[in-house]
Amino acid sequence: MQADQTEEITLHGIRGSQGICIGKAYLVDREGVDVVERYYIDKEDVKDELNRFKAGVNKAKNELAGIIQDIPEDLRQHAYILETHLLLHKDKMLYGKTIELIKNEQINGEWALKKASAEAKSIFKNISDPYLQARAADIEHVTDRILRHLMGAKDVDISGINKRVILVANNLSPAETSQIQLDRVMGFITDRGGETSHTSIIARTLEIPAVMGLERATALINSEDLIIVDGNEGIVIVNPEEETLVHYEELSRRYEAHKKDVVRKSGLPATSADGRRFHIMGNIELPEEVVAVKDHGGEGIGLFRTEFLYLSRNDFPEEQELFDQYLEVIELMAPQPVTIRTLDINGDKEIESTPSPDEANPALGLRAIRFCLKNPDIFKTQLRAILRAAAHGNVRILLPMISGAEEITKSIQLLDEASEELKAEGVEHRRDIELGIMIEIPSAAVMADMLADLVDFFSIGTNDLVQYTLAIDRGNRHVAHLYSPMHPAVIRLIRHVVDAGRHRGKKTYMCGEMAADPMHLPILMGLGIEELSMAPQSIPKIKNMIRKINTSDVEKLTAVILQQSSVEDIQQIITDAYGDLLHEDIYPQ
Ligand code: PEP
Ligand code: MG
Repeated sequence: MQADQTEEITLHGIRGSQGICIGKAYLVDREGVDVVERYYIDKEDVKDELNRFKAGVNKAKNELAGIIQDIPEDLRQHAYILETHLLLHKDKMLYGKTIELIKNEQINGEWALKKASAEAKSIFKNISDPYLQARAADIEHVTDRILRHLMGAKDVDISGINKRVILVANNLSPAETSQIQLDRVMGFITDRGGETSHTSIIARTLEIPAVMGLERATALINSEDLIIVDGNEGIVIVNPEEETLVHYEELSRRYEAHKKDVVRKSGLPATSADGRRFHIMGNIELPEEVVAVKDHGGEGIGLFRTEFLYLSRNDFPEEQELFDQYLEVIELMAPQPVTIRTLDINGDKEIESTPSPDEANPALGLRAIRFCLKNPDIFKTQLRAILRAAAHGNVRILLPMISGAEEITKSIQLLDEASEELKAEGVEHRRDIELGIMIEIPSAAVMADMLADLVDFFSIGTNDLVQYTLAIDRGNRHVAHLYSPMHPAVIRLIRHVVDAGRHRGKKTYMCGEMAADPMHLPILMGLGIEELSMAPQSIPKIKNMIRKINTSDVEKLTAVILQQSSVEDIQQIITDAYGDLLHEDIYPQ
């Protein structure tokens, strides 16, 4: 069924990127490559089928390599996503498995690839680590590109669009999204995808509205249909009536004016209405993102997730390579602090020298600090690079997934060894830098008073802390509705950590997603967390909200919140007190 020319329809999806746009739809990909035929190959034709498959893979690879080369400057920081895709084309799970299936089952390349891809995706989808989970979408994008070449289907040619439109697609890959030209594309909507997909991350970098996961958008919308994309609410309105149109034009105008104002003020400090100074920092994955942190008013790097430098490759990086990367970040950010978090990985499959262990519960497995302490050589290489880079600026070290004291003392021992070695080699470095731990495992939160004596600061990682405290696997959609940083147990744990640190003169920061949500801000300010770190694009709005909030008010509010036993009651208290302010951020007056 397609939309009646006159009928207004509202579609509900997932918020991909904030903002509102109104314009003509441009349908780029109705069917995608969803429909794949299955047929058998005669034994004597298997070799030809293998060659046809390999040729398809090579064409897809070459096409992607061309896209990477032409990637615009402002999206360079996301090129690593596409480079990962490039590697996936020849990955064992995808390429190797497809070849095996063509040979063993004598089936056509398309079907074999779909089958291999489905298996690989299901493995990643069952991992609770969100980064590894996102690899399922990466596999899907690579599969689609190869399938298009095998089936002779047309690629989505976004670069050829010559008028201002809103893209409507079954699925946009990060490669396609990176080709978006901002003077032509106002926003986009997709049937597939979700909030944490790489495509929506790129949309947020481009700062254009996007709504994803609409399921039926390509079936209901035609090119040239007038549509409204409301990325703030995650809705799309097709063929709006005059009244709706006028309403959204006004909303859009107010939102744009408000956004400009917020960004204009992002360079100013984040000082609460009653004069308390907060520090808002940026989370980055690669050195290229430092520019975005600075442009959005970030006052340092609160979390440098270093694992990305290890992911899309078959070996471990050398000390010098790591040093060069860290130095780049430190020099760009100087004199403001850079918090380098040590490797948070569990032997990702790209690192072929240490294949991922076969674990039933990877989120509870050999991750992060556990992996590093089991592989001290790999860990020490990174620690040496950090200590060397620290000689050139303001550096803090942050250890991930700490569950107790031993992991800290062992890490300190390795840091001392690394420093001794560098000293003996006469290499310039600095040992007396701040050492902090991520508080993201409940055992560490409970023991925060004892751990405080071993470190200089805490940084709360709510993404994992919520998951482990509430026993909610983030990868399991059946319990996703229960995942809430506003759960009383989470708030009490955070309060305990902040108090334990304060009593021992140690600061508590936050770098999990909770810090980037304006709804949670009153609680965090009320608990006295003065340094919050988040994705660069969230910095201006959080700074802006802080300026409107009075700390003595939120302290009182937090005391009331700490007496509540349900998420719903806590949300209600915040909405009653700050609902207008929060609404104003999305729909300014
Ligand atoms: C967290 O767990 O909150 C965190 C910041 O770490 P990551 O998202 O990298 O696991
Ligand atoms: Mg974490």
